[in-house]
Amino acid sequence: MKRILITGGAGFLGSHLSKKLLEEGNEVLCVDNFYTGSRKNIHDLLDNKNFELLRHDVTHPLFVEVDQIYNLACPASPIHYQFDPVQTTKTSVLGAINMLGLAKRLKIPILQASTSEVYGDPEIHPQPESYRGNVNPIGPRACYDEGKRCAETLFFDYYRQHSLDIKVMRIFNTYGPNMNPQDGRVVSNFIVQALQGENITIYGDGKQTRSFCYVSDLIDGMVKLMNSEKGFTGPVNIGNPREFTMLELAEQIIELTGSTSQLKFQDLPEDDPLQRQPIIELAKSKLGWEPEIELRKGLKATIEYFRNLKR
Ligand code: NAD
Ligand code: UDP
Ligand code: UDP
Repeated sequence: MKRILITGGAGFLGSHLSKKLLEEGNEVLCVDNFYTGSRKNIHDLLDNKNFELLRHDVTHPLFVEVDQIYNLACPASPIHYQFDPVQTTKTSVLGAINMLGLAKRLKIPILQASTSEVYGDPEIHPQPESYRGNVNPIGPRACYDEGKRCAETLFFDYYRQHSLDIKVMRIFNTYGPNMNPQDGRVVSNFIVQALQGENITIYGDGKQTRSFCYVSDLIDGMVKLMNSEKGFTGPVNIGNPREFTMLELAEQIIELTGSTSQLKFQDLPEDDPLQRQPIIELAKSKLGWEPEIELRKGLKATIEYFRNLKR
């Protein structure tokens, strides 16, 4: 049994990770300031004697005793991370410094939830980990992209300078139950719109692509990475390589919900990446990981979750 700290543990991914680590018999210390996460996500865990919740902002130092750290704290959807962009950069950068300082004092492994956004609007397709990216450093997405890039820099400098056991995971678009229905991400938006019979909002011409990973696959990859051989730092792409256009996504969601919603075309947000697809050969060879849940199956489970939320 390990004592495991999860920052951002009340968020979409953090709540699934908390549940899985508890099921594996660990103690979980969930640290969250509830900026985008919610108690509802972890409601079922609050009675578990191995689960502890601490309201805390990771931009401030944290002194606790644990065996592993998963650093997930950061708003992840464009409308949330652009709402207070200075705070977004602070969370990524100061949060990384504090959690790395904690890991250094305790000499424990630490995993960083990085992102495919470090590739920006990629000129190389699909994206291998060796691609250095195409990020606009002064655009509206930069607070998130550059914050995450700087966090990766800090992780690798603590690794080189202090021999810290780091694990850097580049997460590609993930979906599933516990997504925040109001966070503006494409899967939740389309499902909520379809269920309510509202227009489906397609930004741009809808031909831009994303590759969607179901949350259970993603969390499996995350835990495998944390427990991978010492010295394997990543960065490693974790995502589902099956690529879809936003039009294809909308069609599937309309079909699966049986909705009468129509498509409504709106302006494409500034710096919106045109395409995104992970190469996952490193995850396959080093972690023995690959995703299992295909989009249709994952969407069914997610639609079910949102249907029940409505009631
Ligand atoms: P989320 O917004 O649901 O969860 C983030 C959590 O962090 C929330 O509970 C929020 O309250 C908390 N938080 C934010 N700022 C904080 C702070 N300063 N101190 C303490 N807690 C804070 O997002 P998510 O989708 O669960 O993402 C989790 C992590 O994974 C993020 O770091 C995100 O960048 C990364 N990621 C997610 C995706 C995805 O598709 N979901 C893709 C790439 C990377
Ligand atoms: N830190 C923390 N908890 C700890 C140890 C450190 O929050 O248990 C913070 C500490 O306040 C510092 C940061 O982590 O701001 C980086 O720590 P490090 O030891 O690397 O740097 P230093 O303290 O020497 O500046
Ligand atoms: N998108 C869309 N309609 C929406 C929300 C998003 O067409 O209602 C598009 C968005 O422009 C982007 C893609 O869907 O091209 C994925 O957006 P999301 O915010 O989910 O993730 P990210 O852009 O961070 O990958």
